[in-house]
Amino acid sequence: MIQVTIWNEFRHEKTNPVVQEVYPQGLHGQLASFIGEQFSVKTATLDEPEHGLTEDVLSETDVLIWWGHKAHDEVSDEIVARVHQRVLEGMGLIVLHSGHFSKIFKKLMGTSCDLKWREDGQHCRIWNVNPSHPIVEGVGEYIELEQEEMYGEHFDIPAPDELIFVSWFPGGEVFRSGCTYRRGNGKIFYFQPGHETYPSYYDKKVQRVIENGIRWCAPTENNYPTYGHYEAREGANNE
Ligand code: ZN
Repeated sequence: MIQVTIWNEFRHEKTNPVVQEVYPQGLHGQLASFIGEQFSVKTATLDEPEHGLTEDVLSETDVLIWWGHKAHDEVSDEIVARVHQRVLEGMGLIVLHSGHFSKIFKKLMGTSCDLKWREDGQHCRIWNVNPSHPIVEGVGEYIELEQEEMYGEHFDIPAPDELIFVSWFPGGEVFRSGCTYRRGNGKIFYFQPGHETYPSYYDKKVQRVIENGIRWCAPTENNYPTYGHYEAREGANNE
C-alpha cells in the first residue's frame, strides 16, 4: 500500500474563523479524509518537532503532499534539504496551491515560482489539456470550481515535463495549473486548487486528481541506482 504523508502548515486554521468553518479539522484533516480511503495516511504540521518530518517519517513516505502559505520562511532549511534528498531518491511530491512559494518547491524548480493572484471569490475552470495522462483519469474535460483564488501567468516555473491542466479565470487570466516534473529519481506534481477559504478539497474531481497524482508520483519497483566509483563488470580489473 502506498504510504502518503500530508504536510500542512496549519496556521490559518488556528486564527481565521472563515478557514475554521471550511476546514474544521484543518486542511490536512480534509485531505486525509478522502486520501485515507485508498492509501495509508499520516499527517504532519509545521509546529511539530522537526515539522513532523523526521528521518523515520520521510524514509517511510512514498508520496509527500505539501500545503503551505504564510509561514514558508519558518520551515527550516535542514528539513527542506532532507525532503529534497528524499525526492532525489525517489519519493513522490505533490505541491498544492500556495505551496508554489514553498522553499522545497523553489529549491526543486530553481526559479522564483512567482505568479499573479487575486482573491475575489469568483469561479475557475480548470481545463484538462492532457487527456491520456493517468493524473486526469475520470476527470473529464474540465473541473469547474464555484470559488477559487485567481492564479495567473506568468508563473515563473521551468517548462513542465508535462502540462496537465490550464486554468481560466473570469478576469481573463490563464494559468498552468497542473504540471509534472522529474527531479533525480522522484516525480513531482504541482496542482493549483486549494485556497484556504474555499471548499476546493471537497470537490470530487479535485479529490480524484490528487488520488491519481499519488499513484502517478509513487516510487516504482525500480532500484535506486548506485552513483560514484564503479567496478568494471567485465575484464581484467575484475579478477
Ligand atoms: Zn490562496
